[in-house]
Amino acid sequence: MFRKRLENFSNYTTPQIECLVKADANENLLELPEELKNIILDTLKNSISNLCFYPEINSQPLKEALARFYNLKNENFIVGNGSDQIIQLIVQACCEEDDQVFFLYPSFTMYRITAELFDVGFCFFDFTSQWEIDIDKIIDRIKTNEKIKVIFIDTPNNPTGIAWSTENLKALVEAFPSKLVVIDNAYGEYSDIDYIEFVRRYNNTIILKTFSKIGFAGIRCGYGIANENIIKNLHKVKPPYNVNILTQHIAIKVLENFEILKDNIKFIKNERDKMIQKLKGYYCVIQSEANFVTVVDEYADKIFEYLVTNKILVKKFDVGSHKLLRITLGKPQDNDIIIENLIRFKKEKA
Ligand SMILES: *Cc1c(COP(=O)(O)O)cnc(C)c1O
Repeated sequence: MFRKRLENFSNYTTPQIECLVKADANENLLELPEELKNIILDTLKNSISNLCFYPEINSQPLKEALARFYNLKNENFIVGNGSDQIIQLIVQACCEEDDQVFFLYPSFTMYRITAELFDVGFCFFDFTSQWEIDIDKIIDRIKTNEKIKVIFIDTPNNPTGIAWSTENLKALVEAFPSKLVVIDNAYGEYSDIDYIEFVRRYNNTIILKTFSKIGFAGIRCGYGIANENIIKNLHKVKPPYNVNILTQHIAIKVLENFEILKDNIKFIKNERDKMIQKLKGYYCVIQSEANFVTVVDEYADKIFEYLVTNKILVKKFDVGSHKLLRITLGKPQDNDIIIENLIRFKKEKA
């Protein structure tokens, strides 16, 4: 009854582990500012009489808000049910059977999962042993594979937090004018590097953004920014009405009142830099530009269990011979609990 492909296919899952400190999913767990809460409550109240209607088929009102926010045109945007959906649309629009997508290893799991789901191949390239991006080797690797149609670059990278310099990214984009380079900027708000000029300069890039990592994972809303031709083609494979009315209205208000969120984002960046400083003496900590901190440790499995025993949930990754723990920043008291536990583990072990 089902496609052969599905027999051994496993979709994205997250473990349901009971915890007091949830630091596993890169959500922004700070309380929303009261002012923004009230604005959103008002808009939900006003939306109630529109629930009988389908939403605008291509999220036009939200695109207009995005165009104002970025000082671009409506035609530069596509909106999805999370940026996960845009990743899916890109694979559907660009890849035929036998084509491949490229990504770094490690990077966001959905690139591989989406490729597999659509019977598209994939290939990847590692960071250096010092967790650096070897741009020359990456370009060489891609050059040897004609089948690659799409290059996924998450910057800041998930799960390391490493951001690509604009120089490296330019070299990549310019090396492959006929491949689509996806700049997945899900954590962009937490980094100082701005890639928006790529949309104006190059016609083979799309930037992906999301509301998920800035306090609105629950509304499922992400978007792509690119030139009109890319956007037009992605719309051809987009399901109609893919973003619901409530989500659109909330997203518009978040954009219109973004100033109110800025302190919250600044606060997390500050907590991140503090956590990196405090853990540095005990762990190999990667320099993150996202809302999480990642440590590399051969005892990651034990540390993970130790944290779970203490009701703390982080995310663990096996990356080749390395083991990583990715810790989402949250409320300061929770961040402190995590730091205490991580340091206590090292002291007890030593
Ligand atoms: C979380 C994440 C996304 C997915 O965002 P949604 O909008 O929630 O689907 C995309 N890319 C990266 C790198 C992420 O970490």
